[in-house]
Parts: sequence; C-alpha cells; structure tokens
Amino acid sequence: MEHLIDPFQRAITYLRVSVTDRCDFRCVYCMSENMTFLPKKELLTLEELDRLCSAFISSGVRKLRITGGEPLVRKGIMTFFDSMSRHLAAGRLDELTLTTNGSQLAKYADDLAAAGVRRVNISLDTLDDAKFAEITRWGRLDQVIKGIDAAQKAGLRVKINTVALKGFNENELFTLAAWCAERDMDLTFIEVMPMGDIGNENRLMQYWSLNDLRSRLEERFTVTDLVERSGGPARYLRLEESGQKIGLITPMTHNFCESCNRVRITCTGEIYTCLGQEGKSDLRAPLRAHPDDDVPLLAAIHAAIGLKPKGHDFDYSRQELGGQMSRHMSHTGG
Ligand code: SAM
Ligand code: SF4
Repeated sequence: MEHLIDPFQRAITYLRVSVTDRCDFRCVYCMSENMTFLPKKELLTLEELDRLCSAFISSGVRKLRITGGEPLVRKGIMTFFDSMSRHLAAGRLDELTLTTNGSQLAKYADDLAAAGVRRVNISLDTLDDAKFAEITRWGRLDQVIKGIDAAQKAGLRVKINTVALKGFNENELFTLAAWCAERDMDLTFIEVMPMGDIGNENRLMQYWSLNDLRSRLEERFTVTDLVERSGGPARYLRLEESGQKIGLITPMTHNFCESCNRVRITCTGEIYTCLGQEGKSDLRAPLRAHPDDDVPLLAAIHAAIGLKPKGHDFDYSRQELGGQMSRHMSHTGG
C-alpha cells in the first residue's frame, strides 16, 4: 500500500485515535462540568475503529495511541485492543499504546499488557488528595494510584503527564519529580493549550510557562537540554545530579511542526492533520458508505494527508488567546 507522505515531505507514521468523547473525570482545563456528549450513533463502532486503524497501518503507520475522552471507559474497548494486537504480532505495528487518566487501570492493566501494550501515559497533576479532587472535579487520587500500581505490576512502562498549572502545582514540582524518579516513571510537563469551552475557568490564569518551570528546576539542579526528539512537541532535559530525564511539551512557545509525523482521528471519524488548526476531513462517510471496500477510505485518507498544513498558530504572547480552538481536547484526543 502506498505510504502517507504529506505536502512537506513528512512521513505520517503515528496515529492518535480518540475512541470516546466521554470521561469519568471533568478536569477543569479540559471540560466544563456539564458536558453534552455525542449520541452513540455518531461514534465510530469498535469494528469501524478497527477498519480505520488497520487502513492507516497498511499505509505505513507504525505507532498507534488510543486516547479520548477516557479511552478505558469506552464499552468493549479491550476487544479493540485485543484485535489491534494482531498488527503487533505480524510486525506491521511497532507500538500500541494509550493515554489514560488511570482510573480504570487497576481493572485493565493486565489485559492491556496481554494485548501487547508496553507503555502507558497516565495523566496526573497533583499528589494531594484534595487538590486532585479539585482539578479533576470527579476523580479520586487513590483510585489513580492503584491504577498506576497495577500498570507497573503488569510490567507496563509508565509515563506521567502533568499539566503545568500556575498557582496549582508549581509548589509540587520537586515532589512530583522525586516521586516519579523513585517509582522509575518518566515525567512530562504539558503547557495548557487553548482547547474548547471550559466554562468559567480562565486559561491565562492557568497558564504556567515551562520556561519558568525550567528555571525553577535550575534553582536546585544542573539542567542539560537533550537533543533527542520524538517527532512531536516534546523536548527533554536531564537533571544532572539525579540523572532524571524530564519531558516538556510546549506547543505554543516552541516550533516543532517541521518534524511532525502524526495525525489525529476523533471519535466520530474526523481526521485532524494538525492539533493547532481547524482543518479536518471526514473519514466516517467513506467507512460507512463502503463497508466491504477499503479503497474509498484509503483515497479519503490520502486526500486528507495531502492537506496537512505546515504548522499551527497558537500564541499566548499577546496575552490573548490567539489561535483559540473551538474543539475540546477530549474530542480530538490529547
Ligand atoms: N483522559 C485521558 C487522560 O486524561 O490522560 C486521555 C485524554 S486527555 C484529553 C489527554 C491529555 O490531554 C491529558 O494528559 C490531559 O491532561 C491533557 N489536556 C487536556 N486538556 C488540555 C489542555 N487544555 N491543555 C493541555 N493539556 C490538556
Ligand atoms: Fe477526562 Fe482526560 Fe479530559 Fe481529564 S484530561 S477530563 S481525564 S479526558
């Protein structure tokens, strides 16, 4: 099958798929408290998700990340992971992974490992019970810690993703880093992105620049920037005294677009070829119109990749929400 190369000669090898817009948490930077979710018929079925991901894999995608919403609250989702594991076994896919809030991991970690998942990203912004309840609105820290325990016990490599939030977890920087180091987990901080209407929360109040976070680390450590890149927005630094490596995702302040190797699919089958642009194409229509023929679907995928823009326009620098995105992160998948 012809591989996916965009107009700027970037090979598309990484697919992120949102399998649901629903979630058992209501993180204040991600959702409003009263979310209206999509009716079930709008969502791709598990079979449609399988066909879609398999079409991408046949076109050269080597890494598949399942996200949401909370992917592990999607009914029957383990059937999908089990089914995707055939691509790992056949050597067509290098990695099957997921981003999760960790709430269901105590239940699913062993099954995920059995399906061939080796690494998992778990979102966690604070180690304080009360603050965790505040930021997730509906979540409980002990449940997530149990999920992390289960993931590690199942042999999954854990990366903690922490959204850097001004006045919220600034004072936990060193505690979080030490906790991750102690448990041999990777740690990445993410800057808040202007995605979706989140009710009364003020994003500029939430925004904590990772340049500032880096300076804080320098108060206690010798910080070295590492050259390695993942093809995405993450860059890495090392704390020389401890050897710990920390990831920073700064989509607004750093330009990573030239090495972008990824596209995203929403739970309704729309493909977004750039996280920071509204441009999208519908893949659900060709999927549903031709249940037994992947040719129109593959043509639609290639056409969408042909429209992948060069880069994005997020900009907080003028203290206004330049490049504000109307869609929620939980819709596109983080
Ligand atoms: N529910 C799963 C979770 O929380 O890991 C997967 C989906 S969630 C949308 C993916 C990631 O996006 C999480 O790490 C979350 O913290 C992050 N996220 C959500 N809204 C964000 C925003 N406005 N800015 C930056 N990161 C955000
Ligand atoms: Fe749910 Fe993840 Fe969004 Fe939090 S960040 S509300 S856990 S989808």
